[in-house]
Amino acid sequence: MSENTITFTKNENPKVKPQSDQLSFGKYFTDHMFIQDYSPQEGWHNPRVVPYQPIVLDPAAIIFHYGQTVFEGLKAYKTKSGQIKLFRPDKNMDRLNRSNDRMCIPPIDEEFAVEAVKYLVQIDQDWVPDAPGTSLYVRPFIISTEPYLGVSPSATYQFIVILSPVGAYYESGINPVKIAVEDRYVRTVKGGTGEAKTAGNYASSLKAQEVVAKEGYEQVLWLDGIEKKYIEEVGSMNVFFKVNGEVITPELNGSILAGVTRDSVIELLKHWNIPVTERRITMEELYNYHQKGELEEAFGSGTAAVISPIGELVWEGKKMTINNSETGEISKRLYDTLTGIQYGTEEDVFNWTTPIKETLEK
Ligand SMILES: *Cc1c(COP(=O)(O)O)cnc(C)c1O
Repeated sequence: MSENTITFTKNENPKVKPQSDQLSFGKYFTDHMFIQDYSPQEGWHNPRVVPYQPIVLDPAAIIFHYGQTVFEGLKAYKTKSGQIKLFRPDKNMDRLNRSNDRMCIPPIDEEFAVEAVKYLVQIDQDWVPDAPGTSLYVRPFIISTEPYLGVSPSATYQFIVILSPVGAYYESGINPVKIAVEDRYVRTVKGGTGEAKTAGNYASSLKAQEVVAKEGYEQVLWLDGIEKKYIEEVGSMNVFFKVNGEVITPELNGSILAGVTRDSVIELLKHWNIPVTERRITMEELYNYHQKGELEEAFGSGTAAVISPIGELVWEGKKMTINNSETGEISKRLYDTLTGIQYGTEEDVFNWTTPIKETLEK
């Protein structure tokens, strides 16, 4: 048996699957999970698909105390003809390794990790929902498991993949959100861990999110952690602005997460010959465009929502309504094209999707 042979233990007590109108996000989990262990002697070894179950860890495991961990998020989609496809999984595994590097976690074999995800999705393929807008969310993550209270990288790890059927992000069509520009808390700083998908970034973002939610805003727009001038991201999405026909997104600077959706949006805009620029942009500059009537659209991009139009921004008490709080033309076109490619109703000109085989070969 090669070290990359994935063993499979079938779940003999499969769960009752939820109705597709009850799904929402990240509440239900499938019958199986993937696990692989790491030790300094054996490297990554013992890849296996086992029944979905709790993991048992020593209370001193480094993950609980110092948060040495990384994660990913991608989706599997069912097309009209019943085929299941992943969207750009190679990009997620590439990013997982970049996060690993920042967090001192040993790199994984990216191609093998994609194969592991495909195999797991294949096993739980009956869990991929097919109601419009639904999908199977894939959550790969790595945790540090060594029991040790010293602050140093763990000697041992587990790479785990779990699957969760998720509902349509927009229940009644794509809908603009209200966003508050965050001027008190910051998500990360240059030199910090912003460009890694690691737990601490999300733990530290909860407070700001809680504060603005009370004021009726759905998300925060993050500014840079040093001068609080430059726009970085919106919630856990990348952000785009259309100004005078040109689409602008903050350039990757070390504190911004390099979204797969962000990259796909840039590729599509270039393909359509719509000018797109990655550069620094301040909140003041954006406000001035708005005052002059030149800010035409704003939207976030991420795996969960794909495209999330921004209808209102509030910054230092000044309210900016964008495109009449309606979904803009480019936002809509990007949303329709990306979801069309994902669900197989649009031609996949960039070869972004990867099919899952229907029958198990093992
Ligand atoms: C995951 C994430 C994104 C979006 O990345 P996608 O690959 O497009 O899903 C953007 N910002 C942050 C902070 C994220 O964690």
